[in-house]
Amino acid sequence: MSETKTAAADAAQSLLPTYGRFPIALVKGEGSWLWDDQGKQYLDFMSGIAVTNLGHAPRKVKEALVKQLDELWHVSNLFRIPNQEDAARLLTENSCGDAVFFSNSGAEANEAAIKLARRYQQKVLNNGRYEIITFEQSFHGRTLATLTATGQEKVKEGFAPLPEGFKYIPYNDIEAVKAAISDKTAAVMLELIQAEGGIFPADQKFVQELAQLCESKGILLIVDEIQTGMGRTGKLFSYEHYGIEPDIFTLAKGLGSGFPVGAAVAKEKLREAFGPGSHGSTFGGTPIATAVVKATIEEIVGDQLPQRAAEAGSYLISELRAKLEGNPFVKDVRGLGLIVGIECAAPVASIITDAQERGLLVITAGPNVIRLLPNLLVTTEEIDSAVKTLTELLSNKASSI
Ligand SMILES: *Cc1c(COP(=O)(O)O)cnc(C)c1O
Repeated sequence: MSETKTAAADAAQSLLPTYGRFPIALVKGEGSWLWDDQGKQYLDFMSGIAVTNLGHAPRKVKEALVKQLDELWHVSNLFRIPNQEDAARLLTENSCGDAVFFSNSGAEANEAAIKLARRYQQKVLNNGRYEIITFEQSFHGRTLATLTATGQEKVKEGFAPLPEGFKYIPYNDIEAVKAAISDKTAAVMLELIQAEGGIFPADQKFVQELAQLCESKGILLIVDEIQTGMGRTGKLFSYEHYGIEPDIFTLAKGLGSGFPVGAAVAKEKLREAFGPGSHGSTFGGTPIATAVVKATIEEIVGDQLPQRAAEAGSYLISELRAKLEGNPFVKDVRGLGLIVGIECAAPVASIITDAQERGLLVITAGPNVIRLLPNLLVTTEEIDSAVKTLTELLSNKASSI
């Protein structure tokens, strides 16, 4: 190794370059705030990509984690795990689901959902169905099955051959769903707000018709709540906005407040599709992970944080709309609760780094959309500060076009 390389560059040499990383090393966090290794402070409006929904180092969750660290870390799913049973009960009591499988990530939660849907059709109903319909611009993960489910070519390049049995159709187009359905269709899988794809909410009518269509044809409806779940949209789960009940929904990101954990939550009829040995994960739902899940759900539900997210989100969206009105660089401000996108007329990568410079962390959703994902406890003052920074940066942009 060359002597002239900086220590930071040397350190990065030991990692596969899977991320275009910003040259910032964050070392401490509290609530909505982060500090880097130079002592610079940042207002966090991305929450580790919709993960730290309770802010950084949330006290009650931390206490539950530390308590569990003192007692027991891991035993194996060959034993009963009381925390896992409690966390599952909290999820089913607060949702339309009846039974939970715990994984370690979002992609694995979606893998479980895809496997469960196929197995239900093939082993319970014995109809040989396997096809999963998904949507253009969707994002469902990076494992081979979930990147295949994802409706974006860029995540698939160079990974052929991909698993069979996935079909992609335009979002919000019920006729396209009807045309895509065959006697092999096992499930339709979608995000109710396409997040990575650019903050596109599904239409009410489309989702209701889709749910009815699936039910009438024996097709399972899978909702990917990995980014939209755990209160972010102003309801505990985004499907509640649509008056539907998915057969399976998946969670990860906000489920563990920053601790890696995912879940697939299924309706009663799917229970028998997964018998002992049909699916599993060494680490899925460990005593530690599910202690964190329990504390996270108790806080979100107990403190009515979805309601708080709804109010903070409408304030954020209305402030952005008011302050950005007439800015020719800004095409649209949209979102639901605290998942908000500012669609611009050109790529926004430089705005993300300019915002970092000014101590505000936001991310993109596709090339032209600035995505805001503050934690659910974000204050009015913090929203005002973020809106002020973004308004200034976007008016500089407007004057340069
Ligand atoms: C992040 C995300 C995933 C993948 O989750 P990982 O934990 O990164 O595997 C899947 N679906 C949606 C909607 C996501 O936002």
